[in-house]
Amino acid sequence: MKFELPNLPYNYDALEPHFDTRTMEIHHTKHHAGYTNNLNNALKDNPDSLKIETILANINKYDIAVRNNAGGYYNHNIFWELLSPKGGGKPTGKVSEAINSSFGSFEAMQEKFNAAAATRFGSGWAWLVNNNGKLEIGSTPNQDNPLMGISEFKGTPIIALDVWEHAYYLHYQNRRPDYIKAFWNIINWEKVNELYINTK
Ligand code: MN
Repeated sequence: MKFELPNLPYNYDALEPHFDTRTMEIHHTKHHAGYTNNLNNALKDNPDSLKIETILANINKYDIAVRNNAGGYYNHNIFWELLSPKGGGKPTGKVSEAINSSFGSFEAMQEKFNAAAATRFGSGWAWLVNNNGKLEIGSTPNQDNPLMGISEFKGTPIIALDVWEHAYYLHYQNRRPDYIKAFWNIINWEKVNELYINTK
């Protein structure tokens, strides 16, 4: 079985002015497509037909090409789903209650998440995860993620933010904090809530 690049659930220009059209197009058709192709190439001599989550959990059994590209494939899959032209505002549903009980308020969670995203040195991802019933915030380097057995930061992703320069440099140049701020205007809270409910 080959992994396939998913279509975005909106047009490349749908997230303007927060995430610009050119960045979205390059990010999907070059970067995400690249991880997908490289993952399939890295696994071509592997007879197993495994779910991506199973590969991530057992990533120590694979070489570095699988680690980088399985992470890149999975991370972008969930990232696109977590964005919406109708997004923004405040969390809704069960995840809203869980955020309040774990962090005190949405604003307190947001501040902690922003700090995790801003301080990840170099390339990586910021996460809100469900770790055995507890919501936690952290970050991972490169294309690692909290489902990987080798990751120091573990859990099931509920919010994901790509902080590689390729995600923001064309529009925001070195201003990563402005890109992080823009993310909250297009976050898809319905999807966040769905991911939370599915991990409970
Ligand atoms: Mn990316």
